[in-house]
Amino acid sequence: MTVRNPRIPKAPAVRTSIRTRLMRQDTLFATGIVIVLTLLSFVMARSALQQRVLAQLSGILFARETLLEQALQSAREEAALLGSRSELVRIAQGGELQGTLEAMLINMRDEHMPAQAIAVFDRTGTLRGSVGTSMEAPFDATQATILQPITGDEGWKAYRVFAPIRSDDGKNVGAVGIEFDVVSLLQPLLSATSLGETGEILLAMEKNNAIILLHHRYSAADRRIILLGSLDDQYAFDLPLAQALKGETGIRSAEDYAGKKVFSAYRLIPVLGWGLEVKVDRTEALRSVTTLAVSMGVAGALLTMLAVFVTRLLALRLTQPLIRLSGRVSLLRPGNWSFRSSVRSGDEVEVLDRVVEDLAARLKMTYDHLEDEVTKRTAELREQYVKDRAILESIEHGVVAVDRRGKILDINPSVERLLGVEREMILGESVSQAISFCIHRKPCPAKKHPVMQALEKREPIRAATNMHMNIVRADRGLLPVNVAVTPLLVGRKLLGAVLVFQDMTDDRRIDYIKSEFISLASHQLRTPISTLRWYIELLSDGKNKNLTQVQRESIVEMQTAATRMADLVEALLHAARLEGGSITPKLKKVNITALLTNIAEELRALGKDAKISCAIDIPTKPVMIMTDAILVHIVLQNLFSNAVKYSHPNGQVNVKVRVRNGWVEIEVTDRGIGIPTPEQHRIFERLFRARNATTVDTDGNGLGLFISHMIVDILGGKISFKSMENKGSAFTVRLPMGTKKSGVPSPASS
Ligand code: ADP
Repeated sequence: MTVRNPRIPKAPAVRTSIRTRLMRQDTLFATGIVIVLTLLSFVMARSALQQRVLAQLSGILFARETLLEQALQSAREEAALLGSRSELVRIAQGGELQGTLEAMLINMRDEHMPAQAIAVFDRTGTLRGSVGTSMEAPFDATQATILQPITGDEGWKAYRVFAPIRSDDGKNVGAVGIEFDVVSLLQPLLSATSLGETGEILLAMEKNNAIILLHHRYSAADRRIILLGSLDDQYAFDLPLAQALKGETGIRSAEDYAGKKVFSAYRLIPVLGWGLEVKVDRTEALRSVTTLAVSMGVAGALLTMLAVFVTRLLALRLTQPLIRLSGRVSLLRPGNWSFRSSVRSGDEVEVLDRVVEDLAARLKMTYDHLEDEVTKRTAELREQYVKDRAILESIEHGVVAVDRRGKILDINPSVERLLGVEREMILGESVSQAISFCIHRKPCPAKKHPVMQALEKREPIRAATNMHMNIVRADRGLLPVNVAVTPLLVGRKLLGAVLVFQDMTDDRRIDYIKSEFISLASHQLRTPISTLRWYIELLSDGKNKNLTQVQRESIVEMQTAATRMADLVEALLHAARLEGGSITPKLKKVNITALLTNIAEELRALGKDAKISCAIDIPTKPVMIMTDAILVHIVLQNLFSNAVKYSHPNGQVNVKVRVRNGWVEIEVTDRGIGIPTPEQHRIFERLFRARNATTVDTDGNGLGLFISHMIVDILGGKISFKSMENKGSAFTVRLPMGTKKSGVPSPASS
């Protein structure tokens, strides 16, 4: 026999290959690095560039301010120089020096001073001579050098410098004013070529709280003054020019008057009270960084792609042997355990390959061994099964196996023979329906079915031989049986039960014949024994004086023997009648306490003879029960006499009566010889006497308890006992108080 190949599960499909995982992880990693590096570089470069631009703006601002101040300073110096010239002293003092001022103007232009007018004033500030645009002297022009910017609709047009004219003796005799063209100053001042397309340099002043742009570079079309709004409002909005006009200096990122984001450097030019701002568009300034970031991103993407490509190549090289190996491993199955290691890469894959070779060899060995073992075991099991089956089939008794719910799993041929059923018909049926029992010819309800009880209690059930159990055969006839049910337990788990029943037809028939015979014999013996007793009575009569002492003693012996014989015949007759079902209880209201008191008297008398003390505990109140007084009397008398009979000399017998839940309980206890445990289960059998009883009392007949049991049964009560050898026994009879229907024993089936 060969082991059937187990179903080999298919090799599981690869959900995510190592290659894909490597590539996925590598792509993620490379992309992450590129993004982080690009962002980092961008932020750092941007910050560095921003610093640089701001520093550059600051430098330009400083240079332009210096340029402006230098221009104004040289204008001041020029005016002061002219103020010391003697020609001008004379003009200021009223002299007329025709051509002097023109010559001076030309001279200044030659020296690249952008002067466009010269005027001379006397001490009172009255104009004494001029060339170029006319001008008026400011109030204290004769005292100090004054700078006067000229602004108009076109912004900053020109600036004038006034200086006192001093005579040789150091007296101020008038003032000279020079007007300079501003264009030549503004050009270098506002030139923002080094700041790219968006760079701007702005010069602004404040007038009536309005910010006025002093050059018209941005309004070339209408050449009008440009107002940048209210100084206070713009200051509140952090406009750099407004802050410069308020005397603040700064370099920062800001928004210009047009709302554009710019980098700006600004400060106040104290000489003029004007604000100067150098600014550049932020986007423009940072363009190089943005371009750098884009380039880095592109380079990073290319690098990532390259990395992925390289990873793919590497992964291919790494996983190829693994894929081949897993393909070969998936071919391993019973019958094909051959596997030869073939990878020579020197890495972990080679190790794995060798391990698989080793494993395959071991699997082959184990499998072969297992196959042999299974073959051997199967043969053994089959042999055992055949043996068991043969044993089961040869058993005379009926054997029924059921599962834990009572469904019939198997039966032996004896069941078919004894019950007249077909195996196929009852397999799978519920045992309580397929095999129904009768006790004393009364149908046994399903829950009292011995199999169901054994399953429920998980205990073996053995029906007592005197229970008169029958199984209803298929033809509705009754089969007298003895029954034993054993639950099948593995640990605490219930698997089912096995019912074994023995055909008792012959035993019951013999019992029946025996009872019939005993009944007949005892009936026939009754009359002669009575006659015998009557004549013995006559003989023993005290009037008969002709008898010797020996004859009298013989007569007494005969009398005892005759009485015993009469008792035995009476008992046999009772037993036969009870078995034959010819005794029907005559139920009446009986005062059980009165009945017991009477019997107790008999017990006392009995005890007195045997020197046994009796303690009788009977309720004083009358207890009425529906029962047959004569039958109860027989039972109690038997129990009392047994208690006295089997007590040790000077022993004690107790009788206790209790009323409980509609039952009367009568308990008779002694401290006598007791019943040996191994014999206790037979105590209610007919003619049974325990081993120890026969030595104590040789006269017993073993019918008393048999009769008592049957009587209690037909009265609807229960009799039970507890006993221990040499310690004593306690017999309890429970009788129903009401009219509980009593069972009538059925005759043995025959
Ligand atoms: P017997 O005539 O032998 O007493 P019974 O049927 O009354 O017959 O009792 C059957 C057997 O039960 C007795 O032989 C004895 O072995 C045992 N038996 C009954 N009652 C007692 C008892 N109180 N103490 C010890 N054994 C008893």
